[in-house]
Amino acid sequence: VIVAANFKSNLTREATTTYLATLEESVDGEGVFVFPPSTALQSHSGRVTLGTQNAYPAQNGAFTGEIALDQLDEFGIKTILIGHSERREILGESDEMLKSKFEFFATKGFKIIYCIGESLALRESGFEAVKEHLTHQLSFIDASYKDLIIAYEPIWAIGSGLIPSLEQIKQTHSSLRSLSDAPLLYGGSVKEENIADIVSIYGVDGVLVGGASLDARVFSNLCRIAKNINKES
Ligand code: PEP
Repeated sequence: VIVAANFKSNLTREATTTYLATLEESVDGEGVFVFPPSTALQSHSGRVTLGTQNAYPAQNGAFTGEIALDQLDEFGIKTILIGHSERREILGESDEMLKSKFEFFATKGFKIIYCIGESLALRESGFEAVKEHLTHQLSFIDASYKDLIIAYEPIWAIGSGLIPSLEQIKQTHSSLRSLSDAPLLYGGSVKEENIADIVSIYGVDGVLVGGASLDARVFSNLCRIAKNINKES
């Protein structure tokens, strides 16, 4: 099972270093990812894999405010989050931009967590519309890329405390399974109270966690719960 922490614009470099030390004490096995802000990227050896929340698709160059491959190579970062809804919506990243990021970092052999998800209006218009939207979002990338992980994150569930019903998650993941063999994460308001139910769903290979990942002890607990789940079939 995969458990990934997205800090967004939270925690400092110092806090991230302390966090990683705490997390390493409790993590056993693979599949734990931490995405700190760019200023907190660092060389890290241990079981936890550090990734970047974003990067510009270039080796280096004139891209003010962005980091590129050179800045990731410095710390041995080989994992990237692409397509998060906050980057799509707040930073205005188009599917075409995300496609070029995907292609660049896939060529460089990165593990890519590619995020997709629908708005509340779309969810309310029915499952066929959701399915069509997610299929469209995935059509911009090579869904058979060997180091791809897909994160299904309904936009309306992110940071809202709302989650789709377990049946809706199951239905969505099962439909995504027909489009890709990549591990499928669920993201959106995952916390200690609901992670066991979510990870138990057949077709959910892990979770991407925002708010509940900011405290190392809480996130360690989420990892522990997720790793102890016996899957339904
Ligand atoms: C996210 O932003 O990827 C996320 C899932 O956030 P939260 O857990 O806070 O809903």
